[in-house]
Amino acid sequence: MTCLSSDRRRRARLLMALAAPLLALCLGCPLPAPSDGSPSDGNDAPRLDTSNNSSIADATALTLGTNNELRFTGVIDRAGDIDVYAIGTLSAGDRLTVDVQRLEGNLDPVAAIFDSREYLVAFNDDREPDGSNLNPLIDIVIRGETDVYYVAIIAYPGTRTFGQYQVILKVEFEVGVPAPVTQIVYLHWAGGSNIRIPNVGTFNLRPFSATDVGFPAAQTKALKQRVAQIVKERFPDLRLTVLNSDDHPVPAEPHTTIYFGGNDEYAFAISEQIDTFNQDPSDAAIVFTEGFQGAFRSTPNFEEMAQALGNTAAHELGHLLGLVHTADCEDLMDTSCFNDRILSPQELSTAPLDNSVFPFGYQAALEIVSWLLGY
Ligand SMILES: [Zn+2]
Repeated sequence: MTCLSSDRRRRARLLMALAAPLLALCLGCPLPAPSDGSPSDGNDAPRLDTSNNSSIADATALTLGTNNELRFTGVIDRAGDIDVYAIGTLSAGDRLTVDVQRLEGNLDPVAAIFDSREYLVAFNDDREPDGSNLNPLIDIVIRGETDVYYVAIIAYPGTRTFGQYQVILKVEFEVGVPAPVTQIVYLHWAGGSNIRIPNVGTFNLRPFSATDVGFPAAQTKALKQRVAQIVKERFPDLRLTVLNSDDHPVPAEPHTTIYFGGNDEYAFAISEQIDTFNQDPSDAAIVFTEGFQGAFRSTPNFEEMAQALGNTAAHELGHLLGLVHTADCEDLMDTSCFNDRILSPQELSTAPLDNSVFPFGYQAALEIVSWLLGY
């Protein structure tokens, strides 16, 4: 992504307000450079891109060379251009590395790996989540079924960027499937000063009170407990340990922290990254609890507010486990629905990717998370 880092779960009624600052920020981005369509200027890698490889069915077949490696180029030369390449058959335990570099123009490339069902396996927008390097890098070990896998390249959706790119793709067969790793999640209700969340900001937060979301202070403990329960329920039977700052000290082991507090004009919550395959077990997100009251068409009851906070915290946790946005109101990773939808349970499911992520494909969220955490 070019202009804003990290995820924002937007309040639907503020979408218009969001559009203006996005545009303003994007004015600072480089202008598209015209592409002359000439082949591989100064680069000896073959251009394998064709004008009609825009779907899994029309993918350009790749043939791996020496050491199961291949370097090739392609070009995003028009709005909505999608380049899909068939990597070949891979099995669980095969390591796949896809390194995409912009060669010319202002292209902000996005790379995604799909299986033959068009299910997203891995996704990367920027190799540095702080936006300092926009070239995607994917380095994963296949966990799913033996299947033909695909790499697809687009320009970051919503920004008109164009140009030539190079892909260095490498497969190492049979390195073995890494064992699933339990993830600790620490629900941080206690507030604090100078809380720094990388790529998001630094916050001074008051300890959470139910009064922040319109309920009597006496209900604070019950609300926190219900939210913790909902977060746990969203990852059914998965090896996720949910701790909280009321009952547990800060864990000594690597853990994900979800802070509760503060306000943001445009977002219910922000996570520091989309952590593909949970490669960073020590990341963080913040749920801006003070923005919940008044964000809905009617006044939520206790259970509805607990669901809103719990769905949101679990959604951010999803990003920190590598999940991306979908367009399905029932799905926990949905970004398309109206605000009131989060007042009732949303579940991890198989759902179409949101257009802000990729123009085709699905995310089988429970399958992906089960590869990483195990049952
Ligand atoms: Zn999100």
